Amino acid sequence: MKKSKLLIIGSGPAGYTAAIYAARANLEPVLFEGFYSGPAGGQLMTTTDVENFPGFPEGITGPELIERFRKQAERFGTHIIGEDVDDIDLSKKSFIVKGRTVEYQADAVIISTGATAKRLAIPGTRDDEFWQKGVTACAVCDGAAPIFRNRPLYVIGGGDSAIEEATFLTKFGSKVYIVHRRDKLRASKIMQDRAFKNPKLEIIWNSEVQQVEGDTVVRQLKIKNVETKVVTEHEAAGLFFAIGHTPNTAFLKGQLDLHDTGYIKVHDGTKTSVDGVFAAGDVQDHDYRQAITAAGTGCMAALEAERWLSEMGYTI
Ligand SMILES: Cc1cc2nc3c(=O)[nH]c(=O)nc-3n(C[C@H](O)[C@H](O)[C@H](O)COP(=O)(O)OP(=O)(O)OC[C@H]3O[C@@H](n4cnc5c(N)ncnc54)[C@H](O)[C@@H]3O)c2cc1C
Repeated sequence: MKKSKLLIIGSGPAGYTAAIYAARANLEPVLFEGFYSGPAGGQLMTTTDVENFPGFPEGITGPELIERFRKQAERFGTHIIGEDVDDIDLSKKSFIVKGRTVEYQADAVIISTGATAKRLAIPGTRDDEFWQKGVTACAVCDGAAPIFRNRPLYVIGGGDSAIEEATFLTKFGSKVYIVHRRDKLRASKIMQDRAFKNPKLEIIWNSEVQQVEGDTVVRQLKIKNVETKVVTEHEAAGLFFAIGHTPNTAFLKGQLDLHDTGYIKVHDGTKTSVDGVFAAGDVQDHDYRQAITAAGTGCMAALEAERWLSEMGYTI
């Protein structure tokens, strides 16, 4: 079995930033970049322009930004493995991390496996037909794009984050509609009040989006009233899924303390319930979910892992 001082799981902004810091601290990190678990490189591989990552005044595409992260991590000696971690044993030290073809004993581990935005299989969004051509899952990331300016926008969801995303979108769209399957929202009272008071926000009750249509970008939605079964056509420039995220923690199989929602519990920075195991990025953050915050916690995790390894007397 191979050995590693620090093993990092995940190749999004959190994992690569942790790798850059750890490699520069001579920890010779090994990074599992994922394979079937989602695109290697993480969520930014599914987006076009990233305009809010500092240092890129003209913007940069998600894949290009990730390529730069990767090169920087490799430059300082990160060893990247193109596999998923299928199994992990955190019950004793050293930790055992298993990929499909390789197995590692690791002194410390950083988990940065991200989260996956939930989507519905609505015709027009299947096979990614209009994905990032009007259909997206991140209002904060994409809301300011020119294609959404002063145009009608639609949000699917009914919880606090749906209201928050819809309220944010009212800065850009001509009008924002929340399409909700039921006749009441799950969102908290305060968020509902905020929604009802906003003149640019309207809720389409008892309804679901049945079809997304367009040419090179989204132009129209077909919306079905689930009670009357009547289908109506609505001009639209954007459809935003706001139905939550699934943190990628299934492979941990309960070896770490998780929140009920599946996110990893952290304390004092990025420390988890297991000594020597740290968590960074969206896998432990259900709130901010941005590349810069993921990178920030990736940096924290590497610094905390380095400190922990030296306190425990591991040779660095
Ligand atoms: C459409 C879209 C657009 C976005 N646009 C922006 C934007 O403009 N600006 C911005 O700041 N943020 C944006 N975001 C959010 C941003 O992408 C995330 O906050 C960020 O990528 C989180 O980084 P992360 O490293 O925590 O996780 P992720 O980027 O999710 O990366 C997780 C990594 O873990 C790997 N992985 C998962 N399970 C395993 C396993 N078992 N073994 C090995 N590897 C595994 C995955 O393959 C992936 O490489 C966007 C998100 C989406 C979905």
